Amino acid sequence: MDSVLGGSNKKTITMSTVATDYGMDKALQQLGLKDVNHGTSTGSTWYPGGEEIASYSPVDGALIGKVTTTTKEEYDTVIKTAQEAFKTFRAMPAPQRGEIVRQFGNKLRELKEPLGKLVSYEMGKSLQEGYGEVQEMIDICDFAVGLSRQLNGQVIPSERPGHVMREQWHSLGIVGIISAFNFPVAVWSWNTALAWVCGDVCVWKASEKAPLCSVACQNIIAEILKENDLPEGISCIINGDYTVGEWMTKDTRIPLISATGSTRMGRIVGKTVAERFGKSLLELGGNNAIIITPTADLKVVVPGAVFGAVGTCGQRCTSTRRLIIHESVYDKVRDAIVGAYDQIVIGNPLDEKNHVGPLIDKDAVDMYLNAIEKAKEEGGNVLVEGGVLEGEGYESGCYVKPAIIEAENTYEIVQHETFAPILYLMKYSGDVENAIEIQNGVAQGLSSAIMTNEMKEAERFLSFAGSDCGIANVNIGTSGAEIGGAFGGEKETGGGRESGSDAWKVYMRRQTNTVNYSDELPLAQGIKFDL
Ligand code: NAD
Repeated sequence: MDSVLGGSNKKTITMSTVATDYGMDKALQQLGLKDVNHGTSTGSTWYPGGEEIASYSPVDGALIGKVTTTTKEEYDTVIKTAQEAFKTFRAMPAPQRGEIVRQFGNKLRELKEPLGKLVSYEMGKSLQEGYGEVQEMIDICDFAVGLSRQLNGQVIPSERPGHVMREQWHSLGIVGIISAFNFPVAVWSWNTALAWVCGDVCVWKASEKAPLCSVACQNIIAEILKENDLPEGISCIINGDYTVGEWMTKDTRIPLISATGSTRMGRIVGKTVAERFGKSLLELGGNNAIIITPTADLKVVVPGAVFGAVGTCGQRCTSTRRLIIHESVYDKVRDAIVGAYDQIVIGNPLDEKNHVGPLIDKDAVDMYLNAIEKAKEEGGNVLVEGGVLEGEGYESGCYVKPAIIEAENTYEIVQHETFAPILYLMKYSGDVENAIEIQNGVAQGLSSAIMTNEMKEAERFLSFAGSDCGIANVNIGTSGAEIGGAFGGEKETGGGRESGSDAWKVYMRRQTNTVNYSDELPLAQGIKFDL
């Protein structure tokens, strides 16, 4: 066991030219990542681990660093340490736990620039979006601090004289967090900020595609926990592929698994956790659409649809995948969107003049190319040709051109989420209900939007007979949710809710108490039991 900075198992990271030019050297230094290859930690304690996972940047293909995967023995030590820490942490008053989260949020404010840069360099999203992701972490900390004084139960009228009923919320225990590559830091903090104020301790298995982000986050919180004399085990990270994830999902010592990723993963995780009667919070894939009605304002439609489709190179769970356009405005909208695609600049995401960075890796590029081929085979009409970019600045092989294809909602490929910048255009005729039917006609149910200046259409879209998604917006796109609202979706998106509103309740256990302060023992429902 070593500390990060003093570890014997450390390796100095050699920076590529691109990384040096954009100040990654300094960023990694500030995040305590200059010479690390550990991937398992219970706080300030780090474990040597087993095999190495290399993290290559999709930006320039360079090796950023390596972390070791967690061994089974280390995993058990982590869980035992977390179990012990829980006993201390749950006894701490919730507002004091909020104070820890407040300090964490402040530290994130200080480190927004280096952490945002790391997100951009390791995952490939634009620097602005990298900063935005860290801002989301700060926002959820602020939200959680306030929440730490509002974990309120209810007092419920009892039907029996001299009795009172109430509901309390108790800490749950270990929250196991499994996260996807595309939000390599925010998803962790959506979970941890709430879980910590609720008195839970967290064990995080980050995506094997962005492991350094998890080490950076752990360094930040470990310092805060140490400064506050809190025990090891409140924040833990483990690293590895799905096998490490499976240890967690099968582990009865983890009452809640919060898993973010593909529907394929969620189907396995949901079943495994349910088999042991654990709780799962599933945040899975989306297939999000914008309905564009005859009264839609193009000034709103174009940026909303284009950012939704190409932001994060189409790798947001809320990315816009389908535009359902009224036939009366179809040509006008299509031409405006196609025209806007001409303006998109693709390149190194650390350079702020570029709008779109790379896909995460070459497997993602293959999936993107296959999806375009499949759409063509099914009869799709390509309006904006896709393809892989080559040449200077594109050496990683992960840069692709956002594509637009006219398609039918019934195509098999359109029914699936392809995690890449492919936008399908389709027409509807008649009333908004016809568009809503198309919008709902997929297996996923995450985010949806309508562009309209017709109040009745907007309300019908939001009504019980409207969008079946967890998120339904009017005159904004499908992506870019604020942390104040509950985030998540229905159907194959998994049904989980994270972030704002009352999402905190899933991180706690509810207890109903009935107290008899009378001298009698009346039974509920008027049942007589005289002895
Ligand atoms: P993925 O499903 O391949 O992997 C996600 C995580 O699950 C990784 O950490 C992986 O190691 C782990 N995992 C995979 N199989 C597992 C198993 N059998 N048991 C336990 N853990 C397992 O997803 P990805 O490619 O990293 O991310 C993209 C997907 O995530 C997209 O479908 C996207 O829509 C979804 N996503 C959803 C949300 C949301 O909030 N709804 C947010 C971000 C991403």
